[in-house]
Formats: sequence, structure tokens, C-alpha cells
Amino acid sequence: ADPVIPVGRFAPSPTGALHFGSLLTALASWLDARAGGGRWLVRIEDIDTPRVVPGAADDILRTLEACGLYWDGTPVWQSQRLELYAQVLEQLQQAGLLYLCRCSRSRLAATARRGPCGLIYPGYCRDAGLPLDQAGALRLRTDAGEVHFTDRVQGKFKQSLHAEVGDFVLRRADGLYAYQLVVVVDDALQQVTDIVRGADLLDSTPRQIYLQRLLGYPAPSYAHVPLAVDAKGDKLSKLTHARAIDCTRAHLALWDALEFLGQQPPDPLRGADVSSVLDWARQHWAMSQVPSVLHRQWPTPVDTA
Ligand code: GLU
Repeated sequence: ADPVIPVGRFAPSPTGALHFGSLLTALASWLDARAGGGRWLVRIEDIDTPRVVPGAADDILRTLEACGLYWDGTPVWQSQRLELYAQVLEQLQQAGLLYLCRCSRSRLAATARRGPCGLIYPGYCRDAGLPLDQAGALRLRTDAGEVHFTDRVQGKFKQSLHAEVGDFVLRRADGLYAYQLVVVVDDALQQVTDIVRGADLLDSTPRQIYLQRLLGYPAPSYAHVPLAVDAKGDKLSKLTHARAIDCTRAHLALWDALEFLGQQPPDPLRGADVSSVLDWARQHWAMSQVPSVLHRQWPTPVDTA
């Protein structure tokens, strides 16, 4: 058998420019793939069309290049793969795993319990037998088992989909395919073996593993790197480091990202050019050094003693 070549990917939603938070996941997945002699793919997740900002995808790609994070092949755009998603949905439908849901947002907001991933769907339409070709959302039946996996950074994680999430949406009422579906289809079709992304997606992972199993897809490994938050604990937004990465200072942003990821880049490397920073990083990359927390403050508080 061929030795398995690792395949990593960066899958940005083109809702804005590449900022420090997204550079972290791009860099971590690039390093993980490249340090292991693997391939690294970029996939533009422009499936949620109302949230897409025109020009953002090209801007992200240009910024990745300025940061020296070159990808293999041609980036995949989800908006051009709708037939593939339709086929997979059809497959799940044939297996009797989907049902139509016509619950309104307001009904759910008023009656459903809140779990770690938002409202837990109480299953109102589960046995209603509504015709699937009518207007409404398509939900996937979950079972009562627990999904377990070991994240390379966060360690053991488990979730009961039934109790903590409920049957989840694969095609929204507005007709758009849900992130949970398309990410699983694309990671499998692109033969991604190693998923490295932000810790905000840790609790989506059991849904994705559940879908992979139903579809007979191979199981990739997961590493969820900490999310950069400000001193108040909020995800980086309009503060300094959430500004678009300045391509003329890409080398400094990379050094900071390495520091954030626990790689302890040496001080003299600060100010070196992009390729020197990346060469050092590839040679020293250690996933085991990435802090196993969901959130990490940035900039890190300075010890002035
Ligand atoms: N498109 C998602 C985002 O930008 C990331 C999806 C993933 O890495 O699985 O948050």
C-alpha cells in the first residue's frame, strides 16, 4: 500500500479579510501539513451566500500568499459544488435519515432548551411525516449513542447528539446547505486526513463524525487550536489584532502567531523575512506545544517584572 501522505486544509468563510484569528488556524494547519511532508489545500467556504462579502475570498488568498502560505492545486469554492451536496443529501434521504421540519425560529426560541451548541431541537417534526419536497428545513435523525474522539490539542471529548444537540439541520429552510453537511462532504472528497482549526468548532466535531460514519467516510484526525480573545474574553473583533493582516508586515504577524501557538520562536527571528520565519517554524513545529485551552488572551499579558 502507498504510504499515506497527510492532507491538511484551510477552509475560510469569505466574510471578511484574513485577521490574526484566522491567520492562526491557517498557519497551524499549514505547518502541521508541511512539517509532515504533506499537502495543504485551501477551500473557500462560500456556501452561506448571504454572509459572503464580495472580494473577501480573493483578499484572503492574496494575504495567504503574502504570508508565504502557498497551497497545493486550485482552491475549491463550495458555491460550485452544489450538485455534490445534493447527491449526498439524496443518499441520506434514501436511507430514511432525513425529515422535513417546519418549526419556526420563534417557536424553538420559546420552547427549546439551550445546550452547548445552541438550542436543542426537541424533535417536534421528527415523526410528523411531512413530505420532504415541501418548504422547510431538512434535519438528520440523531441516535442516542455518544460520539467520542480524542483531539490532538484538546484531548478527549464526548458528546451525546441526542441530548446536547438534537436532530440537526443539513439543508436550511432557505434552501442553503448547512455547514455541517458541506464540510463533511468536502473533507472526504478532498481526502483530508488532518483537520486543524479553531476551538470554536470543537463542539461541531461530533456532528461531523456522526455524519462521516453514516456516509461511510474515513475518519480524519482533529486538532482544535485556541481561539484568540481580548482581555475581556471576547473573540478578537475590532481590536488591533482583528484588523486585516497588513501584508507588508506579514513576517511580524507570523512571528506573533507562532508565539500564540506556543512554539516559542526565538527573539532574533522577529524581524526576519517571511521565508526565514516559516523555515524555522516548519523545522520546529510541535503540535504538543500548542496550549490546550479553548481561549487564549491576545496580546498575552506582559510580565514586566
Ligand atoms: N469555514 C469555517 C470558518 O471559517 C471553518 C470550517 C472548518 O475549518 O471546518 O469558521
